[in-house]
Amino acid sequence: MPPETFESLGRDLLHWITRHLDSADTRPVAAPVAPGDIHRRFPASPPEHGQSLAELPRELDDLVVPGLTGWQSPNWFAYFPCNHSYPSILGELLSAGLGVQGMLWATSPACTELESLMLDWSLEAFGLPDRFRTMPRDPNGPPCAGGGVVQDTASSATFCALLAARDRATDGAAGRDGVAACPPLVAYTSEQAHSSVEKACTMSGIGRANLRLVPSDPDTFAMDVDALAAMMAADAAAGRLPFFVCATCGTTSSGAVDPTARIVDVAREHGAWVHLDGAMFGVAAICPEFRWTLDGADGCDSICVNPHKWMFTNFDCDLFWVADRRALTRAMGVMPEYLRNAPTESGQVIDYRDWQVPLGRRFRALKLWLVYRHYGLEGIRQAFREHVAMAQEFADMIDADDDWTRVAPSPLSLVCIRHRDGDERTKRILDAINASGEAMLSHTKLHDEYVIRVSIGATRTRHEHVQRLFEILRSRG
Ligand code: PLP
Repeated sequence: MPPETFESLGRDLLHWITRHLDSADTRPVAAPVAPGDIHRRFPASPPEHGQSLAELPRELDDLVVPGLTGWQSPNWFAYFPCNHSYPSILGELLSAGLGVQGMLWATSPACTELESLMLDWSLEAFGLPDRFRTMPRDPNGPPCAGGGVVQDTASSATFCALLAARDRATDGAAGRDGVAACPPLVAYTSEQAHSSVEKACTMSGIGRANLRLVPSDPDTFAMDVDALAAMMAADAAAGRLPFFVCATCGTTSSGAVDPTARIVDVAREHGAWVHLDGAMFGVAAICPEFRWTLDGADGCDSICVNPHKWMFTNFDCDLFWVADRRALTRAMGVMPEYLRNAPTESGQVIDYRDWQVPLGRRFRALKLWLVYRHYGLEGIRQAFREHVAMAQEFADMIDADDDWTRVAPSPLSLVCIRHRDGDERTKRILDAINASGEAMLSHTKLHDEYVIRVSIGATRTRHEHVQRLFEILRSRG
C-alpha cells in the first residue's frame, strides 16, 4: 500500500470510527442477527489478487456493523463495561503503527520502560504501597523486590499468580518435577469468585478438586473468613498444603468486596499466597472515597485490576503487581540460547516475557499513558463518580418501586435486581429488553434465584439513559 493511500484511508477510517461511536445509541444494542448471518455475507475464499480498500467504510457498514454488539453504546448495562476512549484508541493505533514486540527489554527498551512507569503511576493513583513498585523512586537506590506488568486479562494475571504461588510453596519443585512430586496443594476462593480461578486450577494441574469454594455472607456475598480459616486448618491438619487464596474486589455476580485484610491474616498463618482479583472495582480506588475497595491489598502477594473494564482503556489491559518478582520470574522464566543478550545478562533490565505466559507482547502501555495524560486522575475520578451516582439513583428508583427489588448491596456501579413475581418473570423481561435492542442487560443467580445485573460504566452512558432503562423495566414489568 503506498504511504499516501494509507494516510488517506486512515483518515477515512478515523472519521468513520468517530461517526460510528457518536451514533451508537441509534443502533440496537444486541446484534439482530442469527448464527451464520455475518459469515454468509463474506466470500468463502480469500481473494486471489489484491483488492482496493477504498470502499472499506461502506463495506464495514454493510457487512460488519449489523453483527456488532454495542459494548460502547450508552445503553450498555450488561456484564461489566469494556469501555474505551478516544485517547486510548489513539494509543492502540500507535501501538499497531509502531509495530514493536517487547518480549525483552532489548527488543524495544521504550516498550518495557514506559510499561514499568505506567505500573508505578497506577500504584500511586490507586494508593497502593511501594512494595509493589517496579522502579526505585531514587534512580540510584537498590532495585525493587516487587513490580508490575501489563497482562492481557485478569484471567492471565490470576493464572500467573497461582503459578508463582505454587512455585513458592514447593520451592520450585512443581515446575521442575511436576505437581505429582509435590505435597497435595490446596487453593481457596469464595464461591462468588470469578470462574478464572477455577480455570487457573484446572490449567495448572492443581485440579478443580483441590480448589475449595469458601461460603460467602448471605447478605453481602463477601467471603466468610471464619469458614476460610476452618477450611485451611482442616486441610493442614490432614497433611495437605494450603498454598493460594484468591480474594475478590468486585465479584462478578454482585460486586461484593471480600474482607481482604482478614483474609491475609488467615492465609499468613499457613504461609499461603494471597492474590487480590480487583478486575472490576480495584480501579475505583483512584477516588479517595472508594479507596476502601483495596483495603488489605498492601498485605497481598499479588494484585490485579482491569483498566480495560471501567477505566476508559481499550481491551486488553490488566495491571498485575507482585510483591516478590523473583517468585513470578522463577515460575515463568526459561532461557533458550536464541534469546540470550547482554542487557539481560547484566541483570539491570526487566524482560517482561518472564512475567507472563506468552513470549511476545504488544506495546500496551501507550494507551494507558494517553488515558492518564488526557483525563488526568481528576478526570477519571469525576467519570467514576458520575457512574456511581447514576447507579445509586437507579438503586433508589428500584427501592421505591413496588414491582422490583434489589437483591444485593450496591455501593458502587453494579445494581442487582429482580421482579417480585420471581424467576420466570424476571428472565422474560430481560430477554424481551435484549431482543428489543433498546438496552442490553445480563443475569446471574444469587441464592439460586434469577437476577438481572445492571452494570453502569459505558463511556457514553448518561443520566437519561439510566432513567430510560428504568422506564423500560417498568413498562415491561
Ligand atoms: N475477575 C472478575 C471479578 C471478573 O468480573 C472478570 C470478568 O468480568 C474477570 C476476573 C475476568 O476478566 P478478564 O476478561 O480480564 O480475564
